[in-house]
Amino acid sequence: MTNNSKILGILGGGQLGMMSAMAATKMGINTHIYCPEEGCPASLVTPHFTCAGYEDEQALKAFAEQVDVISYEFENIPLKTIEFLKTLKPVYPDSKLLEVSQNRLKEKEFLNSIDIPTAPWAPCYNADDISQTLENWNAKQCIIKTARFGYDGKGQIFHKDSSKALESWESLNTDEAVIEGVIDFDYEVSIIVARDIKGNIVAYPPVKNEHKNHILNKTFYPAALPKNLQVEATQMVGRIAEAVNLVGVLTLELFVTKDGTLIANEIAPRTHNSGHWTIDACKVSQFENHVRCVVGLPAGAPAPHSHAEMHNLIGNDVNNLSEYEAMDNTYIHLYGKTDVKPGRKMGHVTILKK
Ligand code: AMP
Repeated sequence: MTNNSKILGILGGGQLGMMSAMAATKMGINTHIYCPEEGCPASLVTPHFTCAGYEDEQALKAFAEQVDVISYEFENIPLKTIEFLKTLKPVYPDSKLLEVSQNRLKEKEFLNSIDIPTAPWAPCYNADDISQTLENWNAKQCIIKTARFGYDGKGQIFHKDSSKALESWESLNTDEAVIEGVIDFDYEVSIIVARDIKGNIVAYPPVKNEHKNHILNKTFYPAALPKNLQVEATQMVGRIAEAVNLVGVLTLELFVTKDGTLIANEIAPRTHNSGHWTIDACKVSQFENHVRCVVGLPAGAPAPHSHAEMHNLIGNDVNNLSEYEAMDNTYIHLYGKTDVKPGRKMGHVTILKK
């Protein structure tokens, strides 16, 4: 069997799975999507689809029997599901990466253990931990994030009023959180890395990200990051890839502070919204590289051929495309989601700059 006659199973059916499946198809590789939701974006681009829960071992077993290698497109797949599938077929990236990125406390410990700086942090299990940590830091404010299942600003609060530790704690509705010092950052960047089965690493250039209501709104390539910080970010993401023995793609989100240092915020164990520009502006997109690596092909050099700006189409933006349609060098990608909801990522647009 050649690598590109393999069938790639993907857990998760969102737009990241959809664009990975499209990249695979372009390479002649079949995909099989496993997702609990009927009609999910990835199910629209492949005939092979299992609609079942992540705890359904019978369905997982049947899925594993029909594929050669398995990957996942989002971080909240239960670890138990991955451990079970690993007994049946190779699963990439390995569960070590998933474990670290599913829990913000483990993530921070891991990053610090490989000399990657993060915001000052402390574990939090009750309201007293908040008051005690602020006292220890001699600080008046902090950000508190649930250890698990936070995304797009959900599961986190900016704690500003020291007399209201109990209210802050209760509002998070969790039993495990992380307290973070507030970083006075200048801007946010992210960097994506691909590592293949032989250990070859290729990193995409860092990009600058702008958020609106905590959701990624725009990405800019190039990031106009000083050269020394570009090198540092590339080394950081390479260290992470080595430390978790990555096979596939992962993303590191970073703050750039006003005094020009990099501080890691979080790891996504997968392709990333800030890498969508690579489809239209690079020789090898983040999705193609992910597929290449997990099926055993060598990672490809990204080789960007254009500068680019990516705009997310969030909620009702998807109904106002005429401006983009009239623009040159502009590529509209829609995810086939029928329900338009505020804050929902419906698609994205990449504008090539030169
Ligand atoms: P996260 O869910 O960790 O990606 O955080 C969502 C957004 O909140 C980030 O993109 C930042 O804009 C902001 N944020 C998160 N953590 C911090 C921090 N420690 N200091 C300042 N801003 C933060």
